Amino acid sequence: MKRDYDVIVVGARVAGSIVSAFLGQKKYRVLLLDRARFPSDTLSTHFFRYPTFHVLERLGVLDEAYSLAPKLVNSFNYLDGHVFTEPVKSPDGPSHYLCLRRITLHDILIKRVRREQTVSVHEDAYVDDILNQNGIVTGVQWREQGKVFTATARLVVGADGVNSIVAKKVQPAIDNSEPVRRTMYYAYYRNFALQPGPAAEFHYRGNRLVYVFPTDAALTLIASSVPIEEFPEFRKNPSAFLTRELEAMPEITTRIRSSDQVGSVKGTGSIPGWQRVPFGNGWALAGDSEQILDPWSGQGIDQASTHAAILADAVDQWLSGKNSWEESMREFNRKRHEFSDKTFERTCKFARDLRPMTEAALKKRGLL
Ligand SMILES: Cc1cc2nc3c(=O)[nH]c(=O)nc-3n(C[C@H](O)[C@H](O)[C@H](O)COP(=O)(O)OP(=O)(O)OC[C@H]3O[C@@H](n4cnc5c(N)ncnc54)[C@H](O)[C@@H]3O)c2cc1C
Repeated sequence: MKRDYDVIVVGARVAGSIVSAFLGQKKYRVLLLDRARFPSDTLSTHFFRYPTFHVLERLGVLDEAYSLAPKLVNSFNYLDGHVFTEPVKSPDGPSHYLCLRRITLHDILIKRVRREQTVSVHEDAYVDDILNQNGIVTGVQWREQGKVFTATARLVVGADGVNSIVAKKVQPAIDNSEPVRRTMYYAYYRNFALQPGPAAEFHYRGNRLVYVFPTDAALTLIASSVPIEEFPEFRKNPSAFLTRELEAMPEITTRIRSSDQVGSVKGTGSIPGWQRVPFGNGWALAGDSEQILDPWSGQGIDQASTHAAILADAVDQWLSGKNSWEESMREFNRKRHEFSDKTFERTCKFARDLRPMTEAALKKRGLL
């Protein structure tokens, strides 16, 4: 049966843009749909590490990312009264973190996708159904400018985040899951005095975490993660709660008082943990739709970008006839587990309680 596209991708942020750009590079016909209009922000803090650097480098946009925000070469730590600074160490890549606001990261990625002539990008395009023939996904239906459209493809990729419509429709099996353990709120600040490096800062007080990340536009991102039991209280007055949390961290108190908050406090208490089976008849998932983690560990972008790159390579193997669909998808699933399982387990484990992690870190340094 002739299809309109090789691949339809739903969601054009980290996972969706990356899958589409790599498939576009190989000249596959891709339809990329997102309900957002870019440049567009999203609910998320945004520090990432060498796995994302690798992917951005492969796409030829790493230098652009580096030109917009400082490389965070030190890690400044406050762990229950102990203060130490260390250089950022990465086992497999550059020794720094980067923190780009999501509006900036997505601007880079969507512009990169648009350079691929075989990728057709539709914004304000809300996907509300998938097309299905004899149990095989064959396309999607979406609404754009008040009209309903459909298109068919050999593969539909759901890169549409935590509330994925594609996942809702195909009902993937769950490999691992974890209930919501924590809530996170964050805001941006101007004139926040930075630690030398500049540094990414991690402040732990018992089972509470605040992190501080210099980002682009001369802003500093500051986020607080506390146990989910405190979500009702946080939600009542996020601004007052966040201010209280920041002032209670000894190494932040005075600096926060002499800085200016820019924009509102945002956050959520609804992020669980899961790993889902990421493929089936005519469909695949990439990013938060197939694996989601509590944000305390700041791993989602590295995970989504790496899984998207692995998926694009696997889809190329299949579409080019080098591998069968089953072989390609099994390889995608194997590689994503290999990359992610330790991170997933560690993030879920310490989302329950950060203290065993900070105690081990202090013991390792002879501080406890
Ligand atoms: C509070 C918070 C803090 C975080 N902090 C960090 C951090 O510091 N570092 C880090 O690495 N990760 C962090 N994360 C995780 C990170 O945000 C995600 O892992 C990452 O965004 C996943 O990217 P994605 O492309 O899979 O999904 P998303 O970024 O969610 O993109 C999904 C896209 O799909 C589109 N879409 C959804 N449904 C439809 C539909 N029906 N039709 C059309 N389009 C649709 C949406 O508009 C969206 O653009 C944080 C998350 C939260 C909630």
